[in-house]
Amino acid sequence: MEDVKSKECCERTTAKITVAQFLENYVDVTQFLEYCKACPNYDKIWSCPPYSFDAMDFWHKYETLELIGVKVRPDESLRAGTYTREQLGEIYETLVFEEKRKLSVELLAREQEIPGSLFLSAGSCDICPEGCTRTGRQPCRHLDLMRYSVESLGGNVQKAVRNLLHIEIMWPQNGKLPAYFMLVAGLLLPGKSS
Ligand code: SF4
Repeated sequence: MEDVKSKECCERTTAKITVAQFLENYVDVTQFLEYCKACPNYDKIWSCPPYSFDAMDFWHKYETLELIGVKVRPDESLRAGTYTREQLGEIYETLVFEEKRKLSVELLAREQEIPGSLFLSAGSCDICPEGCTRTGRQPCRHLDLMRYSVESLGGNVQKAVRNLLHIEIMWPQNGKLPAYFMLVAGLLLPGKSS
């Protein structure tokens, strides 16, 4: 959609929490794996479950999580419209794609500044325009760039955003766009000894 725009792009909120506290309050790998199984990306994209590793082991490699939320606001003219489910999906993709890409570039740079850190993507991997190699059971093309998301590792993003960033995640309702979409990413930081 060519006229899809966001305004005041993009308001950012961050919060730091220890990984131990995050695991205790916001992670349930078993529960969220069931949600992932209902998603079309399950077993279709390498950044999504099922994994060949234990998600809890993954979290335990880090000391601190910086949670990063970015509000992406559709402009007023866009919000005035009423849309089909497909159109809403298309608008969402168009609005957030560029912001997600910019956020990934920024967080990759921060990884390089902080040895032992790793960023968590805002949603599943969409690096390859031709589609993910997982559908053909081939290795990931960009293991150096592909990152997992908070939710794919069992994180309750809605609860974490509400409690830690003090923001409610919003969705389209009755064909109308929400006031904003949320991109939720993270930066995992190592302990002092890492
Ligand atoms: S980088 Fe490409 S191949 Fe790897 S997970 Fe992402 S979309 Fe799939």
